[in-house]
Amino acid sequence: MNHAPHHHPGTDLLLAYAAGTLAEAPGLVVATHLALCPRCRAEVAGMEAIGGALLSESDAATSVSAGLLSDVLARLDGPPLAEAPRRRQVTPGRTPVLPEPLRSYIGGDIEQIRWRRTIPGLHEADVACSGGSVRMMRIRSGMGMPQHTHRGDEFTLVLQGGFTDASGHFLRGDFAATDPAVDHRPIADEDGDCICIAFTDAPLRLTGRFMRWLNPLMRT
Ligand SMILES: [Zn+2]
Repeated sequence: MNHAPHHHPGTDLLLAYAAGTLAEAPGLVVATHLALCPRCRAEVAGMEAIGGALLSESDAATSVSAGLLSDVLARLDGPPLAEAPRRRQVTPGRTPVLPEPLRSYIGGDIEQIRWRRTIPGLHEADVACSGGSVRMMRIRSGMGMPQHTHRGDEFTLVLQGGFTDASGHFLRGDFAATDPAVDHRPIADEDGDCICIAFTDAPLRLTGRFMRWLNPLMRT
C-alpha cells in the first residue's frame, strides 16, 4: 500500500496540471497519481508557487496575485492531497484503494465500482468525465491485455496489483504514459488482479493477429 511510485507523469504534464490547462479526464488521472506520490505533489506545488510569483510581477495582476500567491504559500504548509477529507462509504481503519478525488467520482471505494466484462479476463467501468474517456480496468492476475495501439495519448495509473510491459513494471501509484506509436501488451502480475484507471483521448485499436475482430466490440 505504501509503495512510493517509480513511474511519474512527465514535467510537461505536471506543468499543464499546475497551470490548470489539463482537461478533466486526463486531469483526474494525474490528480490520482498526485494523491499517491509525494514527489510529484511537491513538484506541482513548486510550479504553482512559481506561477503565482510570475503573476505578482505583472502590474495588471498585482492586486489579484498577492492573494493568490499567499494562498499558494499557505497550501504548501497545508495537508497533502492524500489527507483530503474522507467521505462516502469508506470502512473505518482501512486505507481506501481509491484516493480522492477519484473516490468521489466513483461514489465510494472499489466495492462501489459497477464492473462489466468486456473481454475474457478484463472488466471495465466508465468514469464520467469531460475531455476524454476515463475508465477503471480490472485485469485478471497473469492475464495479458490484447496488443493495441491508439490514435491519441493513453495514461494508465495502477491502484492495486501491478503489470509489466515493455517499458517496465508498474505498481500502485505508478503512472504509465503511452504514446500513439507504441504497440504494447501489458501483463498483470501473478499475485492478484490488477486494478487501474486509464485515460484515452482516442479509441483503442487492437493490433494483435487474432484480435482485430474484437475492435467493434471494444468501447472507447
Ligand atoms: Zn510522481
